[in-house]
Amino acid sequence: MTRGARLVVLGKQGAGKGTQCVRLSHYLAVPHVSTGDMLRSAVKAGTEFGQLARAYMDRGELIPDDVVMGLVEERLAEPDASRGFLLDGFPRTTVQAKALDEMVKPNSLDLVLDLDVPTELVLKRLSSRRVCSTCGAIYSLEAPPKLNWTCDLCGGEVVQRPDDTEPAIRRRLDLYEESTAPLLKFYSDRNLLAVVDGVGTPDEVMERLIEVVEAAIRDKR
Ligand code: AMP
Repeated sequence: MTRGARLVVLGKQGAGKGTQCVRLSHYLAVPHVSTGDMLRSAVKAGTEFGQLARAYMDRGELIPDDVVMGLVEERLAEPDASRGFLLDGFPRTTVQAKALDEMVKPNSLDLVLDLDVPTELVLKRLSSRRVCSTCGAIYSLEAPPKLNWTCDLCGGEVVQRPDDTEPAIRRRLDLYEESTAPLLKFYSDRNLLAVVDGVGTPDEVMERLIEVVEAAIRDKR
C-alpha cells in the first residue's frame, strides 16, 4: 500500500470530495484533514470562534484566510500528519495555497487531485444532500439512511446542511469559480495537478483516484 502521501483534493462543493476523501485516506493510511469538518465541529461546540465561523458558513461565504490557515497549520503539526495527509477543502484561495507551500517545507505536496463534476450535477447533488448532524456521514434523498432519517452509523439525526440551501449553494459555487478555480492553474503550473472524472458511482470514482495516486507516487520513488 502507498504510504506517506501529501495530497490535496480540489473540486466544487458537491463533487464528492467528502465521500472520496474518507475512503482514500483509509486506503492511504493518512489523516483526512477537512477544514469544513473542523469548522463545523467548532460551530457545534458553540465556542466563540465557532459562532464567528457560523456567520460566514451559513451564508456560504469563505472564512478569512488567516483564520483557516492557522487552523490547518496547527493540524498539520500534529504527529499523525508527519506521515502524510489528505487535505479536503483547503486550500481554497491562492493566498492559502502559498501558505500551504510554506507549511509543508522542506517537502512539497505529492499531488493535487481535481475531482471534476459538471455544475448542473453538483447543483442537483447539493440540494438533495443530507448529513448526519452527529458524525457527518453523508446521505441523499436518493440514498437515505435505512431508518427514518436516523444515521445508520451512529444513530444521529440526519439533516440538511444550513449551507445546502439554494442561495448559499449559488454563493458557494460563485466563490469556487472566483477564488478556487484559479488554483487549478496554480498547481498545473507546478506539475502537481491531476484531473479525475468525478461522475460515476462512488466505487468507480474511487478506482480512478487510486490509479492516479498510485501512479504519481510510483513516479516520485
Ligand atoms: P466544506 O465542507 O468544505 O464545503 O466547507 C463548508 C464551509 O466552511 C465553506 O463554505 C466555508 O464557509 C468554510 N470553509 C471551509 N474550508 C475553508 C477554507 N479553506 N477557506 C475558507 N473557508 C472555508
